[in-house]
Amino acid sequence: MASRIPLHHRILLGLLAGLILGSVARSLWGDHAALSWTCEQIAYPLGQIFLRLIFMAVVPLVVAALALGVTELGDVHQFGRVGLKTLFMTLLFSSMAVVIGLLLVNWVQPGRGLPPEAQNQLLTALKGADTQVPIEQAAQAKTLTRTLLDFLPRNPLAEAVRALEGGLIPLMVFALIVGLAMSRVGRERAAPLHALLESLFAVMLKIIDFGMQLAPLGVAALIFNVTVTLGWETLQLLSRYVLVVLTGLTLHVLLVYSLALRTFAGRSPLKFFADIREVLLTAFSTSSSNATLPLALEVSAEKLHIDRATGNFVLTIGATANQNGTALFEGVTVLFLAQFFGIDLSWTQQVTVMAMSIVAGVGTAGVPGGSLPMVVVVLQSVGVPPEGIGIVLGVDRFLDMARTVVNVAGDLTIAACVDPARQRA
Ligand code: ASP
Repeated sequence: MASRIPLHHRILLGLLAGLILGSVARSLWGDHAALSWTCEQIAYPLGQIFLRLIFMAVVPLVVAALALGVTELGDVHQFGRVGLKTLFMTLLFSSMAVVIGLLLVNWVQPGRGLPPEAQNQLLTALKGADTQVPIEQAAQAKTLTRTLLDFLPRNPLAEAVRALEGGLIPLMVFALIVGLAMSRVGRERAAPLHALLESLFAVMLKIIDFGMQLAPLGVAALIFNVTVTLGWETLQLLSRYVLVVLTGLTLHVLLVYSLALRTFAGRSPLKFFADIREVLLTAFSTSSSNATLPLALEVSAEKLHIDRATGNFVLTIGATANQNGTALFEGVTVLFLAQFFGIDLSWTQQVTVMAMSIVAGVGTAGVPGGSLPMVVVVLQSVGVPPEGIGIVLGVDRFLDMARTVVNVAGDLTIAACVDPARQRA
């Protein structure tokens, strides 16, 4: 039954219900066997149904999204210098975003502070019995050369089978190579595969949508379990995490975008942001780069006076492939959850998080919550339990609004920087 209350409000209500019921239950029946029974037999399965609907769609979705994303980027060479500059700036901006996020999260450590027993209890509450595996995986740090070499799969099908146990990165590399090859064999010959991947992508997104319909209940159940273990500390940790993401996003806009606008586009950042304020507001209220695209195209040509062909090209590609805010958010979320569960990530694993968050930016759909499957992927690849997304989901919509603003502002900034006319608005 479709409810009139928007989904993101229902998810927030789920978070609050989980928090309140969890802390009441904890203070009234803290040690009671009936409470552990409720956690194991009711809250745990409820949370799992929601999570598994998302997890089951992740692997095919990622393969389709990345192959399609690269095919689009493959068009870049047709646009010569502008295309290459766009590609370069996309990678540069995304890397800087992730670096800002990772520096902040390592400095502030928003997820630290839980005693190890609470962390073990939490893992069991969220994951059931098989919690040791990811922690062991995370502990086995490989050398950098070996890590990089292992990204190239020998047998992509075998990697697909064990994708959720650590084979996702090689599978993603395979998808990237497939995308590259598709853009080289010519449109006509790639068309059937392209259509198949597009349809696979749409169907998997639908399955995630089914999962999201259960999110209010799933989030309530997961947060209930977390709060029974931790009490109100859950809220404290979550608010620190939100603050770190928001600070990172603000710093990225102030430092990276403003500097790029001044140096590469010769524009005043203040005037630029004033000119695009409607676009930013639309991005904030829709949480979708795709939905904001038509207005961004108009403002780019009419107010910023960016060459129309350049604007069309950069903004259309950017709406799906250039997601700086999302990349920053993903890096912070993965490290926050690693801290939360007490998993120490080696520096090679942090570099993996960084690289994957950049790649994930390319594969993220420009729709509300588009980065959710990608966060699962990055979590999985470094051995942090992906069940953790249930913990951050309650506050995700708000962060989604904020990161979409940064995503869209990034597309317009790049368009202004690569604009051959460089007209000053
Ligand atoms: N909502 C974001 C966008 O459309 C994607 C995401 O980070 O979920 O840009």
